Amino acid sequence: MKSIFNLLKQQYQRPKALQWYITVPLPIFSILAIVVVLIVAPRLIENLVKANAVETAVDMTQTLQKIRNYYADNVLSEVGDHTGVEITHLHKYTDNAIPIPATFLMEMAQSYSAEDKLRVNVTSPYPFYSRKDRNMDEFQQSAWQKLTKNPDQPVSIFDEVEGHRVVKVAIPDKFTSNACVDCHNLHQDSSRRDWQLGDVRGIIEITVDAELSLERAHRLSLMMIIASFVSLLVLVLFNRHLAKKVVTPLSSITAAMTALSERKIVSTETSHSGYKEVNELGSAFLNFQRSEQKRQILESEVRQLAFFDPLTNLPNRSSALTRLSELASREGNLTLLIVKIDKFNEINDTLGYHVGDKLLIEVANRITTLCSDDYVARFNTTEFSIISSKNSSAKQSSASQSENALQTEALSKHLLACLQTPFAIDDHQVHVSISIAVKHVKDNQQVNEIIAHGNIALHQAETSHTHKIVTYTPELSDALDQRVTMIKELKQAIGKNELVPYFQPQFELSSGELVGAEVLLRWIKADGTLISPFFFIPAAETSGLIVPIGNKVLEQACRLNKQWQDQGFKPFRIAVNVSGVQFEQETIVREVDEALQASGLDPKWLELEVTETALMADISEIITKLSQLRDLGIELAIDDFGTGYSSLSYLKRLPINRLKIDQSFVRNVIENEDDQAIIEMILNLGKSMKLKVLAEGVEDVAEEAFLTQMNCDEAQGYYYAKPMPADEFEVYLEKINRH
Ligand code: C2E
Ligand code: MG
Ligand code: MG
Repeated sequence: MKSIFNLLKQQYQRPKALQWYITVPLPIFSILAIVVVLIVAPRLIENLVKANAVETAVDMTQTLQKIRNYYADNVLSEVGDHTGVEITHLHKYTDNAIPIPATFLMEMAQSYSAEDKLRVNVTSPYPFYSRKDRNMDEFQQSAWQKLTKNPDQPVSIFDEVEGHRVVKVAIPDKFTSNACVDCHNLHQDSSRRDWQLGDVRGIIEITVDAELSLERAHRLSLMMIIASFVSLLVLVLFNRHLAKKVVTPLSSITAAMTALSERKIVSTETSHSGYKEVNELGSAFLNFQRSEQKRQILESEVRQLAFFDPLTNLPNRSSALTRLSELASREGNLTLLIVKIDKFNEINDTLGYHVGDKLLIEVANRITTLCSDDYVARFNTTEFSIISSKNSSAKQSSASQSENALQTEALSKHLLACLQTPFAIDDHQVHVSISIAVKHVKDNQQVNEIIAHGNIALHQAETSHTHKIVTYTPELSDALDQRVTMIKELKQAIGKNELVPYFQPQFELSSGELVGAEVLLRWIKADGTLISPFFFIPAAETSGLIVPIGNKVLEQACRLNKQWQDQGFKPFRIAVNVSGVQFEQETIVREVDEALQASGLDPKWLELEVTETALMADISEIITKLSQLRDLGIELAIDDFGTGYSSLSYLKRLPINRLKIDQSFVRNVIENEDDQAIIEMILNLGKSMKLKVLAEGVEDVAEEAFLTQMNCDEAQGYYYAKPMPADEFEVYLEKINRH
């Protein structure tokens, strides 16, 4: 029982719809009230009717008693004493007689009953002998019992007489005067003779017809119930209407609010209510909704700007770093690829920013198409990152790791090939060089470390012309550390003049005459250690130190050559190596001119050697630069010729004077027929293009003989002399001049 009560209580306490509260309880309570009224009303009505009847009866009795008493006290005493008129209850049958007070009362009562709806009956359990036959009925008997005990409380009941509902009221008739007591005690007909003042002599029973009153009261009550029903119905309908007018807009506002909280942008028009407050709430909500929607749009724009690249719509660097950090800590093993567009600035500078922008979008599209399962982001202006967490698991077997590495390698190659396929942008066919860094992420690696490793690999790929995909290995870090140390030391070496130019002579094969000398740099440390340019030139190139170093070499070469000419040595060409990095500088032409001007050397005795690979950039720009240099009056040579991929048509357009056959072809030329064929080919090419050809790395007489036989123009190598410092070279020149 208790649990049922609790259940009901819980059920009741649960929030319910407004409609429930204002519609449902009302009819329930009203019906309950009507039921109660239906049960209680008849009783109330009867009680009222009864009370009314009792009041009427008491009034009536008092009136009758007053008249009787007056009759007894004033009329009878006068009449009996002076007139000789007999006072008897049989006055109707006796001449010259008047009734005793009791008869007087009864007759008054009878006359009353005859003409009104009231019937008055006077009775007593002690009637006069003459009326002994009149027995008290059941009501009268019980009333007598009650009235003798409590004479002040009239007794009343409902009864039915001749089909009419009546109220019977019994009121005690007491002795109020001694004269009456005496009379009753002395009267010959009296059945009792011990009456005393105040005794209840009999009952005055008044029967009030209640039929009409009851009928009216019931009709009134029925009308009230009907009125209650009607007003209840009206109230329920009105409440329903009210609820609808309030609940519908509220529900629509709630639905819109929910949509809003779920960041759904919905065009909600709250339904119109007839109520001012609800309408105001609706329009206040609409205002709020509009501003919230604006705020959400702004927020998503801010998010877009904060986390996405506006050009490519890819996640930006910040998003990529967050994702990398999440995946690294969650997945453990994953792969990071950094794809860089080499020399992107040149595309912007030469083709314009709009082409640059379109290129970036196209590159982004190609990458996302290829790496649809991976997380692709724009890492910075020219770099894209690809995070692949495929096949990742907390503990990978070495077999699956190597399988993963193979997949990444295949993907990288695919990416490289795809991105190096020319892009058709506007009217341009844009070729791009791409560098790709691969970093396999192991457990517990921090993002900073991952990115640092990726950058090391990327740097390696960028600076290499042949290996454009580089996977990070710890050795790369070591090499980088060494390079960093080397760069630091190199900077100091420049200040301490530890970079010393060495000179290697070049000879004309037909005459055997010294026609030139190549300047080859050496790093001689304070402890006498000699470091080869093969080690420090790449570090100088990547750090940009090659520019001041190269300028100094140029300046020294021009000054020394002019000095040797001034000393009376037969003039010869001085060949200076120019790195690709130097060649890219805008200032290269001016620097060369300044070196010539400062030394006073005739430009025809200066030659610049540029490697084939350094000339692999934009042809028109290269032609412009080479032409500007040629216009200074100097000579130009392509160094290490045969190792690059220059085509004949490409070479034809370059304003150059000399091809230097790479020493790798000369080294085995006697035994290797392929090398012979290559050298022959280069020589034919030189002839057809009217260029001089110089063979590098000639180490013995057989090589010289072969080259002479092949009509090679010039040669350089250990066979003649190793590179030597300026003072030694001066001695060497003197020795040659003496011959
Ligand atoms: P390179 O310009 O091709 O120079 C020829 C290299 O071959 C020199 O190496 C030279 O010593 C070496 N060599 C000459 N004859 C023979 C030979 O008969 N047998 C062998 N095995 N080697 C021979 P080195 O001096 O070590 O220079 C290496 C490279 O460093 C040069 O190649 C050049 O590319 C670069 N380099 C040297 N000095 C400079 C410089 O001042 N500026 C720039 N940018 N690069 C320089
Ligand atoms: Mg050289
Ligand atoms: Mg060379």
